Amino acid sequence: MEEQEYEKICYMCRRPESKAGSMITMPGNMCLCHDCLQKTFDSVMGQGADLSHMDLSHLSGFPYMNMNFSNTENLPQMEIPKKQQVKKKKEKKGPDFELKDIPAPHVIKQRLDEYVIGQNQAKKVISVAVYNHYKRVYAEEMRTLLADDRSSAEEISIEKSNILMIGPTGSGKTFLVRTLAKLLDVPLAIADATSLTEAGYIGDDIESVVSKLLAAADNDVEKAEHGIIFIDEIDKIAKKKETHTRDVSGESVQQELLKLLEGSSVEVPVGSNQKNALTPMVTVNTDNILFICGGAFPDLEHIIRERLMKKSSMGFGAELKDQYEQDADILRHVTSSDLRNFGMIPEFLGRLPVVVTLEKLTVDLLVRILKEPRNAILKQYTRLLEMDEVKLIFEDEALEWIAREAIKRETGARALRAILEEYMLDIMYEIPKDPNIGSVVVTRPYLEHKGGPVIRMRG
Ligand code: ADP
Repeated sequence: MEEQEYEKICYMCRRPESKAGSMITMPGNMCLCHDCLQKTFDSVMGQGADLSHMDLSHLSGFPYMNMNFSNTENLPQMEIPKKQQVKKKKEKKGPDFELKDIPAPHVIKQRLDEYVIGQNQAKKVISVAVYNHYKRVYAEEMRTLLADDRSSAEEISIEKSNILMIGPTGSGKTFLVRTLAKLLDVPLAIADATSLTEAGYIGDDIESVVSKLLAAADNDVEKAEHGIIFIDEIDKIAKKKETHTRDVSGESVQQELLKLLEGSSVEVPVGSNQKNALTPMVTVNTDNILFICGGAFPDLEHIIRERLMKKSSMGFGAELKDQYEQDADILRHVTSSDLRNFGMIPEFLGRLPVVVTLEKLTVDLLVRILKEPRNAILKQYTRLLEMDEVKLIFEDEALEWIAREAIKRETGARALRAILEEYMLDIMYEIPKDPNIGSVVVTRPYLEHKGGPVIRMRG
């Protein structure tokens, strides 16, 4: 079963069967490819030994080879580690999924709504982009399957809709992508642009992001090729201004990412993010991988505002100026020229045609994030206390206080859990002491350290 599911990997050159051709399995589950076996023979018998005439199935019969195969139990197992094994490619009979399997944009949006609060425009844009992306994947697959030879003139090729996501820290960028991958049931890899450097420098190679995706897809190349790669902190690889040293983690990383974003075949190590002689390599095609790049882009607001002001000062003056100064959601006016001013190179931006901006979370939204998502933090605490048969109630004023406190910390929704944990600790510690407690009400004075939570006994 295992043998059928995973490819054999040559113990010497670490190439999988799909690259090195058929292999023989030696005792101890050690596989060797034809080339390596040939090399071994060459070195033993001199150059030019022709293996093709030899009956390899009877290797044990070689009179001059001392291969005692009778006692195989005591041989060390020479298998390739599990995490470096590659799933075999299945023979293709049809596309991997049908058109009807791709959820329509409104369905994707509805399902995102269950988890992600606010960010309506972003959810809408992403739903459409993802829908188009998988339609494109389907169309491409059908074309290769049918070996469609229509002339390229009449063929409409749909371009990739990679996404650039701009929004403040903790506004839900990563969360949105995670939720998306889960509901589409595709593998997801999350990488940090700050760890990437130009090949050859200390840090991760660009291909390491594909390696991660392959691991997330259980080393199934086909599954990985339909996955999503999220590269966070993409603003940190902006072109550095006025550098006198080589920009190995800025512009050159953007340059190297181009080929991945656009779609190309890359050789990636399996089960490791480093290439070395002992790691098997496979080829992954990034053509159908959806890339989402996200970042907070600090100072971008400033660039946008400046551009808008410049425009307005030429024409209708001061009113507009005021409006821009106060607009909290100024990011939605972003253009590609603003991003270029920020330090992203035009070729890079060209490969991220869908730009999504996320708004800063307001008090109202933060309160809703506490209460409404499917696995909202409040629902989780309520459930925990329910198990002790204690009812947990939060006063509206208390929730608002928590949201305001979170805004002060400037880490978006991420602060909510931290704040709640601080205050819930005592409650979670004390309540189980007394089985007569029936309910606990978290009030604003409790949060402000002006009193305790209101506790009511049973009955
Ligand atoms: P970032 O934008 O920095 O990537 P994250 O997506 O990591 O932020 O958000 C941190 C956490 O805050 C998430 O795990 C999620 O629980 C919560 N969160 C953030 N934004 C939202 C939102 N709009 N709706 C629901 N939960 C959110």
